[in-house]
Parts: sequence; C-alpha cells; structure tokens
Amino acid sequence: MLAGRYLGVRMHDYDYLVIGGGSGGLASARRASAHGARVALVENGKLGGTCVNVGCVPKKIMYNAAAAAELLHDAPGYGFDVEVPPHDWASLVRRRNAYVERLNGIYARNLEVDGVERIDGWARFAAPRVVVVGERELRSEHVLIATGGRPRVPDIRGAELGITSDGFFALAERPERVAVVGGGYIAVELAGILRSLGSEVSIFLRSERLLRRFDPMLREVLIEEMTQRGISFEVCHEIERIERGENGALRCVSNQGVSHDGFDCLLWAIGRKPSTEDLGLEHAGVERDAEGHVRVDEFQNTSGEGVYAVGDVAGRWPLTPVAIAAGRRLADRLFGGEPDARLDYEFIPTVIFSHPPIGTVGMTEDEARDQHASDVKVYTSRFTNLYHAVTEHRSRTAIKLVTVGAKERVVGVHVIGTAADEMIQGFAVAVKMGATKADLDRTVAIHPTAAEELVTMR
Ligand code: FAD
Ligand code: NDP
Repeated sequence: MLAGRYLGVRMHDYDYLVIGGGSGGLASARRASAHGARVALVENGKLGGTCVNVGCVPKKIMYNAAAAAELLHDAPGYGFDVEVPPHDWASLVRRRNAYVERLNGIYARNLEVDGVERIDGWARFAAPRVVVVGERELRSEHVLIATGGRPRVPDIRGAELGITSDGFFALAERPERVAVVGGGYIAVELAGILRSLGSEVSIFLRSERLLRRFDPMLREVLIEEMTQRGISFEVCHEIERIERGENGALRCVSNQGVSHDGFDCLLWAIGRKPSTEDLGLEHAGVERDAEGHVRVDEFQNTSGEGVYAVGDVAGRWPLTPVAIAAGRRLADRLFGGEPDARLDYEFIPTVIFSHPPIGTVGMTEDEARDQHASDVKVYTSRFTNLYHAVTEHRSRTAIKLVTVGAKERVVGVHVIGTAADEMIQGFAVAVKMGATKADLDRTVAIHPTAAEELVTMR
C-alpha cells in the first residue's frame, strides 16, 4: 500500500523514509522513488556519505596522485630524462575537494530530479516507524537505516593525538614521518599513498599479520613490495599510549614498553564502528549485535517491523557497491513487485588500492581447504610484469586460482600486481557464473598482458 491510507486518512507521511544519504541510502531511495513510492531521505552531513566525502572517491584521487609519482620514478627506464619534481599536496587537495563538492551538488540534484524529498538533520526513532528530525515527526510505512559507520579510535592515553582516515583527508600538508596503526584496507592504502608521495611511513601491527583475512600469498607479496618501497613494519605491537615529546613529535609506546619516536602524524586505521548510537533503535524494536551493527536477515529485515538496514551499519562486506546493491534490491522487493529480491553476498569481488594493487574474489586457499578438504586444487604463478622489464624498480605480480571438485570449479581468484585492480571485475563475473578451470583454459589469452596468465595456468 503506497503512502498508507485508512478510510481516506493518511496514516503515513511517506512510503519509505531513508536515514542516511550515503551509498546505500541514496541508491535505495532513488530506486524506491522510481518504483512510484513517496520517499524522503534524512542526512545529517554531506550527501554521498563516507564514500564520496571521506572514502573511496578522495582516496582514489590520492591513489592516482601516488600512481603518477611512481610513473615519474619509472620514466627514466622508458627514456625520459626527468627528475621527479616536488609534489604540491595543497594543490592536489584543493582540486580533490572541488571535485567532491561537485559530486555533492550532483547528488542533491539527482534526488530532486527523482522526486526524493531531502530532509537535513539528525534522525532518531521515537516509536516504531516514527522518526523525529528536529521539530518534525515523520511517519513512514517502511524505514531504512543506512547510517554507515565511523573510524574507530582506541580507548588509550593520548589517542586523541592521532588522526583517522577522516583526518587524513583534512591534512593541509603532507606529514613527513607517519605512524600508521592497523593492518587492514585503510592502513595499507593510506600508507602506500603517503609513501609514494614522499613521507616516511611505519606500520604498527598488533599481530604478525597484515591483511589477516586475505589469502596469505597476497599479504606475503604485499609486505615484500611495501618493504622494498621503504615502508617499515613493527609487528606484534599493541600500542599502549601516545605522547607528545618536547620537540612536538609524537611517540608511541607499546605494551612491551618499546617506544617509537619522532612522528609528525599518527594515523589510526583500526577498523570502523557502525553509526547506531543515538538513533533511538530501542523505540523501534531494532536489535544490534555485540559490535553495534544492526542485525538483519538475508532480506535486510531488522527485528523491528517495517524497519530495514543496508550498508556498513549492517556490518556485512562494508563496501560501497554492496551497500548500493543491497539498497536497490530492497527497494525492488518493497516497491517494485519483486518479493524475492535480495542481494546474494556470495563471491563479492574487492580491490585493495595498495602498491601494487590487490584484486580478489572468493575463497582463500585456507577457506577452501577447510570446507572442501583434499578436493581443492590450487594454481599459482609469480612473474614480473613486462612494464617493469626496463624500469629500475621491479614490482612482482602473483596470481592464485583456487578450484574445488573434480570439475575444478574456480572458487577463488587472487591477484596482486600492476593492473590487478582493473583485472578482477571480469574474472568475478566468471566466478559468479560458476566457471571451471577448463573454461578459463578454453578462453584465448590476450597478449601481452598480465591478465593472460589467469587463462594459461598449469
Ligand atoms: P555511509 O556512506 O557511511 O553513509 C551513511 C550516511 O548516514 C552518512 O552520510 C551520515 O552522515 C548519515 N547519518 C548517520 N547517522 C545519521 C542520522 N541519525 N541521521 C541522519 N543522517 C545520518 N569502499 C569501496 O567499495 N571501495 C573503496 O575504494 C573504498 N574506500 C574507502 C576508503 C576509506 C578511507 C573509507 C573510510 C571507506 C572506504 N570504502 C570503500 C567503504 C565505503 O566508503 C563504505 O562501505 C560505504 O560508504 C558505505 O555506505 P553506507 O551507505 O552504508 O554508509
Ligand atoms: P579493516 O577491518 O580492514 O582492518 C582493521 C585493522 O585494524 C586490522 O588489521 C586489525 O588487526 C587492526 N586492529 C583492530 N583493532 C586494533 C587495535 N586495537 N590495535 C591495533 N590494530 C587493530 O578496517 P579498516 O579500518 O582498514 O577499513 C574498514 C572497512 O572499510 C574495510 O573493512 C573495508 O570494507 C572498507 N574499505 C574498503 C576499501 C576498498 O574497497 N578498497 C578501502 C578502505 C576501506 P587484526 O587483523 O589483528 O584484527
């Protein structure tokens, strides 16, 4: 029933009220509106959310700058007699911010064109399907929670002396000596950008493992490559406190009493926490898990009737395309006459914009062996990309295919190396379609590329 009515009296102001104007919320609101629903979207900050303002988009621009720096370093190998000029961080940041502002405007116009009402402010449930924003009380038949997340900062002495990824994007100039704490996506990506643009970078890991949840081949090669580029690793360091020395530099002291001194900047990259505080979830009967994520079933339903959650706040695969896809499928189910629509979370591809980049989809070798025991066959290859044949710096490429069963269905593709970021999307299609090793073998290679190795493995 659209814009619920009872005996001619409107019971709801909206069919769909979306809380959060990030990747998931915007996509779901616009799709619902396209299906004819009466939709409003509440956003407390800038439209576009994390991805557009302090995530994927500004990160990729910084990554491109780092790639340009690497190209300049490689240029003499290709006969260009160039000296690498100093990099103007402030000018890059200005251009990046201008682009992000343009995107904010485009998102606002898109909502207008699609007939989604935009409401500025902080949304909070007052009762089931009743949301308060400032003075307004809004009633909606369906409510979507798409409030995303925020960077985590540890509860230790001096933690406030560090910055998070949000602070990274606010840096007016490039810090010379940086300590990065954490070993996940953000630590690896921002450390790589800073290093390529000229900073000295040390990564502090609480265990021995960078990218713990990824295939070991990827992290082994990445550690070698990052070390070669001059990034240092301090492993098994649980940071206990941060202090500012008399010279103004930062010092981090680990639980073994070891201290590391002389940093201009310390970057916390230790994960993100869902934005579920102060949302009044208890008034809507919406349950959270131990980490604060909104609990959802496979259809994105929460425990509260008529209340749903997608994206980072729901905690599963916190990536922009996942939030978008889940948000659209939900709108299709609620308003598009597709009662079974839902996002299938199997075989989600992902890229880490490291140096060199990583592209991966499906099971790691260990996961496959845990699930399929001896029925697993793995193919690997390591080589130097032809691009590096003449450059001084030689970066490696490593590839792993994980297959299961007699037909050798491909259940995992893991690539680290130049162009892995652009390579994995197509292979993810093949994996999702159930490709076997024989299917890859039957595909004619494209030469000379790095991707051809994936269809010529023995
Ligand atoms: P968000 O985009 O976080 O949007 C939530 C919105 O809700 C925010 O705008 C917030 O202001 C608003 N909000 C919160 N509470 C309220 C409230 N009560 N009332 C009103 N509004 C509220 N993913 C990728 O796929 N590729 C990448 O390369 C990539 N790079 C990243 C780099 C960094 C540094 C970071 C931090 C993240 C990156 N991500 C990347 C992850 C990606 O940004 C997130 O997965 C994605 O933004 C999640 O979308 P969302 O809609 O769930 O939440
Ligand atoms: P991740 O979950 O990727 O990594 C968190 C890291 O922090 C892990 O290495 C973890 O170590 C470490 N850690 C956790 N707690 C502590 C602590 N108290 N002290 C020291 N280290 C700690 O989180 P990120 O913040 O890097 O990124 C958040 C999410 O954003 C990612 O999961 C990803 O989904 C998304 N993202 C995606 C990107 C992309 O698509 N390219 C880029 C950036 C972010 P341990 O392994 O020991 O648990």
